[in-house]
Amino acid sequence: VFANIVRAPEDAILGVTVAYNKDSSPDKLNLGVGAYRTEEGKPLVLKVVRRAEQMLVNDNSRVKEYLPIVGLADFNKLSAKLIFGADSPAIQENRVTTVQCLSGTGSLRVGAEFLARHYHQLTIYIPNPTWGNHTKIFGLAGLSVKAYRYYDPATRGLDFQGLLEDLGAAPSGSIVLLHACAHNPTGVDPTIEQWEQIRQLMRSKGLLPFFDSAYQGFASGNLDADAGSVRMFVADGGECLAAQSYAKNMGLYGERVGALSIVCKTADVASRVESQVKLVIRPMYSNPPIHGASIVATILKDRDMYNEWTVELKAMADRIISMRQQLFDSLSARGTPGDWSHIIKQIGMFTFTGLNTKQVAFMTKEYHIYMTSDGRISMAGLSSRTVPHLTEAIHAAVTR
Ligand code: PMP
Repeated sequence: VFANIVRAPEDAILGVTVAYNKDSSPDKLNLGVGAYRTEEGKPLVLKVVRRAEQMLVNDNSRVKEYLPIVGLADFNKLSAKLIFGADSPAIQENRVTTVQCLSGTGSLRVGAEFLARHYHQLTIYIPNPTWGNHTKIFGLAGLSVKAYRYYDPATRGLDFQGLLEDLGAAPSGSIVLLHACAHNPTGVDPTIEQWEQIRQLMRSKGLLPFFDSAYQGFASGNLDADAGSVRMFVADGGECLAAQSYAKNMGLYGERVGALSIVCKTADVASRVESQVKLVIRPMYSNPPIHGASIVATILKDRDMYNEWTVELKAMADRIISMRQQLFDSLSARGTPGDWSHIIKQIGMFTFTGLNTKQVAFMTKEYHIYMTSDGRISMAGLSSRTVPHLTEAIHAAVTR
C-alpha cells in the first residue's frame, strides 16, 4: 500500500549534517549544526546539568508517574520568572499561564494550535528570512503565514523601515512572530530604541506578539538583557505569547524541554486560556516528559546552582563572541575583499555571511565546509584551530 510513496527531501538544516557525516575528508567542518561545540569541537554537557542529574538519580523518593497535562508546576513557575523577570507584574497578578512543552518547537506548535482555535485573526506575520521551521509549524496549525521585511542584504543589517511599513500595513489583530533575541538565521536584532518603536506600532494596531525565545542568555551572556524585548511588551500590560527553549542555554537539546507562556489581561482569563491549552495538548502527546523539566527546575530553584549555570552560560556566549572576532580579524589579515564587519556586529549562534548559494557549494566541494545554502554559519561550530581553514575557503570563494 505504500509502494508509491515519494521520497521526501532532507530537512534543509538537518540535511547539512547528513551530508557532512558522509564526507570522509579529515578537514571537514560542520558549520550547519545549531548546537554548541567546545573549542575541541565536542558537544558540551554543562557541569551544573550533570550535578542536577546526579541529585535526581540519588533521590529515591522520585517516581516516574505521569506529569499533569501542563507539565511540572515548579518548572512552569520558574520558567515564567526567567523570561518575564522575578518582579514581573503579570506574574504577581497571576495573569500568565505557563505550560511545559516539547522544547521551543513544541511550545510554538501548541501556541499556534491554541491561536488557530481561539483567536479571531488567523494571520501570522513572520520575519523574512526566519528559522525554516516557523512557516511549517504555523501553517500546519492552521494559521495563514505571511512575511514581514526584516533583513537588508545591502547593509547586512535590519530593514527597519521595511519592517515598520509591513507591520503598519498588517490587518489589525494579526499575530506577529518576533525573535526575542539572536535572530536566526541573520544574527540581526533591533536596538532597544527600535524595539520600543515596534512595540508602539504593534500596540496601536492591536497586533499580537508571539515571541520565540530560543537563545535567552546565549546571545549576550546575560539572561536579563536577552529578555529585554519580551519584558518591554509585558510591561505595558498588553497580551503576548512566548515560547521558551532550554536547548541552547542549558544545552538540553535532546531532552526537549521548553515552555509556552500566554500573558493575559486578568487572572480569570489566564485560567480559562490554560483550560483550553490543555485540550490542545491532551490529544497531541497527553503530557510532557519529566526528566528535562526536573533538571531545569532543580537548577533554577537553587541559588548556587543558578549562579553556576549563569557562569557556564556566559562562557558559551563568550566563546562564540570570541570566534566572531577571530574570524573577522583573520579575514582582515588575509585581505579578503569586502566589508566583513557584520560578523562582529551580528549576535547569537549564527552569522549570516552574505555568501551566496554558489559560493557555499564551492566551499563545500573544495574545502569540505558544510553550512546551509543561505550562507548561514554556526559560530559555535568554529574553533581557533579551524578559523584559518574557513578564512581560506571564504577568500577563495569571493575571489574566484
Ligand atoms: N526557534 C528558533 C529561532 C530556533 O533557532 C530554534 C532552534 N534551532 C528553535 C526555535 C527550536 O529549537 P528546539 O525545539 O530544539 O528548542
